[in-house]
Amino acid sequence: MKGDPLRAESRRTRRGTGPDPRPRWAGSLARVSAQPTLSEVLAALDALWPRERAEQWDAVGTVCGDVPNPEARVGRVLFAVDPVQEIADEAVRTGADLLVTHHPLYLRGTTTVAADTFKGRVVHTLIRNGIALHVAHTNADTADPGVSDALASALGLRVTGPLVPDGTDPAGRRGLGRICALEPALPLAEFAQQAARRLPVTAQGIRVAGEPDRPVRTVAVCGGSGDSLFDAVRAAGVDAYLTADLRHHPASEAREHSPLALLDAAHFATEWPWCEQAAAQLDAVAERHGWDLRTDVSRTVTDPWTAHAPSAPVQPAGPSTDPAHDTPGAPN
Ligand SMILES: [Zn+2]
Repeated sequence: MKGDPLRAESRRTRRGTGPDPRPRWAGSLARVSAQPTLSEVLAALDALWPRERAEQWDAVGTVCGDVPNPEARVGRVLFAVDPVQEIADEAVRTGADLLVTHHPLYLRGTTTVAADTFKGRVVHTLIRNGIALHVAHTNADTADPGVSDALASALGLRVTGPLVPDGTDPAGRRGLGRICALEPALPLAEFAQQAARRLPVTAQGIRVAGEPDRPVRTVAVCGGSGDSLFDAVRAAGVDAYLTADLRHHPASEAREHSPLALLDAAHFATEWPWCEQAAAQLDAVAERHGWDLRTDVSRTVTDPWTAHAPSAPVQPAGPSTDPAHDTPGAPN
């Protein structure tokens, strides 16, 4: 499942318009467009996801790139979740001049970018091929629209507001997570199936906690690891919470507190929808400026988990020396 190459596709190609085959000078009425400089595109990304809105501990912004060089032009941008080698190679393959990822390459300081470290190899691959790397992480999480808006939209939910509002936003739209309405309401089991169908395919799929028939009308969502937000989820009084990386204790305690249903998706799957949203946002900027810029969204699954072994079905009772009979769920 990892590295599924089925999915590198160009937004423009997908829309069926394809690259314009005419030379730039063809047709006196043709709109004159030019590739923007790297610094122009980075300024546009900073306007969409201002670096100062990132968490203190985060490391966002431009990781590598010949930023001050006016000759550094951007004709193609690739959006992806993880700045891993597979994605760097994809950026080279697709002819990207700029790679925009959600996760930082270096979250903490480093003393080396030597190519015998995996992060150094990513840096070398990108620089050798003239590709810049830019990160929008927690500043994209809380943005309007942000990572959880993209997740809600992928799930077919209507956003009604942020789960943890950013007090500095007078419009009250920015913040962490989103509270959403599910219209029409669905039983939990059906909503889980719908989520599994709509999110990228991962080995994990969706783990569910709750009564399968209980109707879900309101849902809180948080792209990425969301088990620090349970207080806000409880305060919101929603029927279900969909996020990633739910750990045993916070999940167990949440279930003991209330009938809140939990849906745990792969971290990658909850954040990937942002790539499409982000690419569309940059498309709109390019359109406004008349830039000759193409955006691609990587459809490579970089979820680190590659397989899932469902628990073995309960064996019929009988004399056995199978050690599985000592495990929970097996007959005594
Ligand atoms: Zn994440």
